[in-house]
Order: sequence, then C-alpha cells, then structure tokens
Amino acid sequence: MDRMRYLVDTLNKWAYEYYVQDAPSVTDREYDALYDELRALERDTGVRLPDSPTRRVGGEPVKAFARHRHIAPLFSLDKAVTEDELSAFITRVKKVDPAAVFTVEYKFDGLTMCLTYSKGRFERATTRGNGTEGEDVTAQALTVRSFPLSIPYEGTLEVRGEAIIRLSVLEEYNRAHSDEPLKNARNAAAGAIRNLDPKVTAARRPEILFYDINYMSDAPVASQREALERLKEWGFQTFPYLRVCASFDEVRAAVDEIEVNRKSLDVLTDGAVIKTDAEDVRRRMGHTDKFPRWAIAYKFEAEEAEATVEKVVWQVGRTGKLTPLAFISPVELAGATVRRATLNNFGDLTRKDVKVGSRVMVRRSNEVIPEILGAVSHAEGSVPVQKPAFCPACGAPVRETGANLFCTNRACPPRIVQKLTHYCSKNAADIEGLSEATLALLQKERGVCSFSDLYALTKESFAGLEGFRAKKISNLLSAIDASRRMPLERFLYAIGIEGIGRVAARDLAAFGSVEAVAALSFDELVALENIGDVTANAIIHYFADEENRAELARLRQAGVQPVSAARVTQGAFAGENVVLTGGLASMSRPEAQKKIEELGGTAQSSVTRKTTLVVAGTDAGSKLERARSLGIRVIGEEEFLSMLGEGAAQP
Ligand SMILES: [Zn+2]
Repeated sequence: MDRMRYLVDTLNKWAYEYYVQDAPSVTDREYDALYDELRALERDTGVRLPDSPTRRVGGEPVKAFARHRHIAPLFSLDKAVTEDELSAFITRVKKVDPAAVFTVEYKFDGLTMCLTYSKGRFERATTRGNGTEGEDVTAQALTVRSFPLSIPYEGTLEVRGEAIIRLSVLEEYNRAHSDEPLKNARNAAAGAIRNLDPKVTAARRPEILFYDINYMSDAPVASQREALERLKEWGFQTFPYLRVCASFDEVRAAVDEIEVNRKSLDVLTDGAVIKTDAEDVRRRMGHTDKFPRWAIAYKFEAEEAEATVEKVVWQVGRTGKLTPLAFISPVELAGATVRRATLNNFGDLTRKDVKVGSRVMVRRSNEVIPEILGAVSHAEGSVPVQKPAFCPACGAPVRETGANLFCTNRACPPRIVQKLTHYCSKNAADIEGLSEATLALLQKERGVCSFSDLYALTKESFAGLEGFRAKKISNLLSAIDASRRMPLERFLYAIGIEGIGRVAARDLAAFGSVEAVAALSFDELVALENIGDVTANAIIHYFADEENRAELARLRQAGVQPVSAARVTQGAFAGENVVLTGGLASMSRPEAQKKIEELGGTAQSSVTRKTTLVVAGTDAGSKLERARSLGIRVIGEEEFLSMLGEGAAQP
C-alpha cells in the first residue's frame, strides 16, 4: 500500500507540474512508466485510492446527467457595457466603503463549473445550470487534469471555474477532424463537458480555469485575493492575471489593459470581471435575486484594430478640458473608416505611453468615439507628445488638475461649441440638425454662446448662411421647439453638470423638477445610489453659480419646461426600453420616439441588454440582427401603430 500511495502522490505531483504550472520535471516516458505500474498494482490488489490519477479516464458513457443542487447558489454577474455603468458600479461600492478596493480579472468565455470537495477529496463536478441546480458532469470533468483530486483543506468546499478549450488546442483538434470541425471555442468547451461520453470530453482536451471559492464550510476567505491564493496553493489552475484597484481610473486602466491583451491570449475572453475585494463589504452589499451587488462583468462589444499614430492635437471640451486627439492611419472598424481616436486626458496619454509613431490598439463601439486603448509597439524615432502650456484654441493659460489640463477661459470658442453640441445631442435635448459644425457656425457668425440663445433663433438668424434652405431651417426650428418639453432626465444631462452621466441624471429626475434638484442638500445627494461626494459637490456648486442660475432662468423664460418622467408611468410602452431601426412609413423617427416616451417608454438609440422592444421598419440593419441575437422582442410598423392606438386610423 505504501508503494501505491507513493505512486499516486508522485504522479499527481508530476501532473500538477505539467498541467497547472506548465513546468514538467520529468519526461512523458517516466510518467507513463509509473502510471503503468500503478494501473497494474490497482488491478492486482483490486484497490484504487480516491485520488488515483487512473480515475482521470472518466469511465463509461452515461445515459443522462443527474441533477445536483449547489451548496451555495452560483450567481451570474450583472453586466456593464458602458463606462457610465461601470463608473456607477464603483460609486455604489464606494458609498458602502469609501476605502473599498476592487479586483479586476479576465472574463473567460466557456462553461461555468462547480467542483465539490469533502474531507480533502474531490467529490463531484457540476455545471452551473440555473445557478441553484446543475448537471453532474463528474465523469467528464475527471478527464481534465488541471485540478487536484485531493487537497489539504478538510472541510466541505465548492470552487468555481470556467471550462475552456485553448484556441491552439481547438485549431489542432480541427486539423485532425477537418470533416467535422468545431466552430468556436466556447461551444466546443460547453459541448465537451456536456457530452454524455467522457471519451469525447477527453478528446477535446478542455481545461478548467479556477477563479472563485463558492462555499467553504468553515473559516471562509476574507477577500478575492485570498481566494485566488488558496486556489493556487491547493493546486488548482488559475489564470496569472489580477489587478487590485482603488479607484474608477485604476479599474478602467485594468479593463483597458485586458482589452488590449486579450487579443493575443490563447483563451477566449469576452470581458473583464470587477469584484469588490473584501468579503465584509460584499456581505454588507448583499445581492439581488439574480446578481451579487458587489461585482460586475464589463462586456466588450466593441471592435478593435491596430493603427499608427500620425499626430496628436488638443481639443477643448465643454468643461474646458483639453483632450488629446490622435490622427491615426486609416483603419476599418465596425463598418466605418476611422482616422481619429481619442485619448481621455493628458494623464491617459502618459500612462498609455502613446507617442507620435506608436502602433496602438483602437476601439470603436456604438455610442462612443473611437478610443486608443494602449500602445502595442513604438517605431524607431517615435516622438513623445508635448504638454501644452497654453490653450491651442484661444491662447489662455492652461491649468493642470490631476490627470487633466484645462483651458482657463470660460468664453473659449470651441468650449462653447462643445457645450452646445452636448446640449443638442441625442440623449440630451435631441435637437436634430444642430450638429457640431452648425453650432460652430452659429457661434462664429451669430454669437450663439448659451443654451438659451438657441431658443432665440429665428428664420432670420440663418439668412445669409450657406447651406440653409427654407425646409432645413423650418425643420431645425421645430426641432428646437420640440426640445422645450424634453424629459427632465435628459435636461439634467444636457446642461452638463460635471460628473452627471445619464445614469445619475435619471436618479435626479426622480425628484420631479429642476428646482427640486437644485434644492437638494449634500446629504440628500450622496444618499442617491449613483452619486458620490465629488458629484454631489459638483451639483451643489453648479446650482450655486450665479451665471448658471441666470441661464436656467433664461431657459425657463424661453419656455423650456422639462417633463418629469414620473408623470408618465402608464401607457402602452410603460417600462419598455425601445429601439427604432429602419424607416417607418407613417412618421419620422423623432416623432416615433416622442410618442414612445409619451406612452411611458424610453427611446434608446442602440440595442443594449436593457432593451426590451425593437421596432423594425424597412431596411432595418445591424440593430435588428443584434436584437434577434439577444432574443429581444421585435415588432413591425403595423403592430407599433396599433400599440400607439393609431392602427385603426390607417387606410
Ligand atoms: Zn481656450
């Protein structure tokens, strides 16, 4: 028996070195010799130790998977697809513990698994299933070598990991099975584990990357960092990447890093997982019926490509912030040719080490301008970007605050144009036709410099300006007029209070009016889920500012009366997030959006996971495809009209 114990321990150690550490200390032949000896010994004695590597063959095909209940539920993660959502998550955690730190890891795209251990022995592997109950895939999992059959921990333990197939393994497999190649690594991994015949599982060579302890019967770990340490100690394969971040900026930097590096990874990934590190903060935050509140998955939906930086110029934003804009070698991204990409601020440029001449990774997603994620390499003779001392647009001195540079001139022309452009944008006042170029023209030629100036525009204002025909002018003026009754949350977003994104604006809009928001105290503001100290101060500062108060009064005088969404909670579209795609025969898109909002719905510009309904007109494009792939309800124009109650009015 001593010999058998020795053989099992030695073979397990070698397997660990080979499969987990990727550092074999013996040749395959030495391993095979000992393995054969063990097999013979087991045959002769009729004894097999519970952690014998011969169990790894997985056994005979099973008829069906037994169901098995997890000891603790395996939650899935809430998802963020925009930076706004990511930032809101960080704020929520910081409200519970201002000193909270976050771990950032890769999100692997495979099949989630749960492995149970008891008294130091591997007992069972199950799929995540519905989170409460999964399928028993012990025989299949046993063919995977990247986890231990025995561990030093003596209590009951459930660990969580992702079954994956490496891209190189998939490629190799497909070369050998060219008659029936596996299309993608995720389905291949899921199909391998959920195959009734463990031999099929073994042939596809899946691995499991472990990333969490789901349950421990005693002395639970105090943090995510500790969980990963323990997993490693016990011999589980973990992925060698972990960032510990204290702020949104650091989290964002880690997410960017993952987005760049995942391209060269041998494992399929579809995002980053951000978790609150400390267990006590997690406990205080708890979970909804679906998700833990203390973690989020940031999903990459954008497209990326490499390009060369040709030059960098500085743009003045609506707050006076100078943003480096890179001109890049043209690159095709998400169906468009991209020639320019932003770096967020001076600090971002420095941190990402972007120089003129660098090869960089560029990302483009639906709603955001193309962005440089990081430098991939530097050509010889690459030149660092100089920090400007004066505003390149107006020559005023530049002020440096943290990672940002600001033009100190409130009347800086591009700053005014940006402020107006933001105000007129789709998610704000939604004034179609007032593009950045038009606003720049109106600023230069007509001295338009505030929101209220927009409402003073008349037909005559456009006389003598090139490219404005009667029809265009009247469309423009009616779009401006329509914005007088924009939803309150859009107005609060439109006026450009620092730190107020669409999420926070929605929270504020619940107070019913601009006046009510202006009257909120610091304590009342920070009590809101998505507003932290800095933003609360910015809001108070905004409404205390004389110039801002005068402008709000002028807007009121001009008839701008934002509509409180709280009034519209009933109607055919109540609670629906609606996306319009393609053309409607009966009305224009802004008209349709207005009707949706009047009937309690929210009109969205692009399909996100929050979208609940898509109205597809003629020539509906990629939005429709995306909606279908997400399983979102799609209706045609006829059904849309009947929801509006106008179906009968059609001839
Ligand atoms: Zn300036």
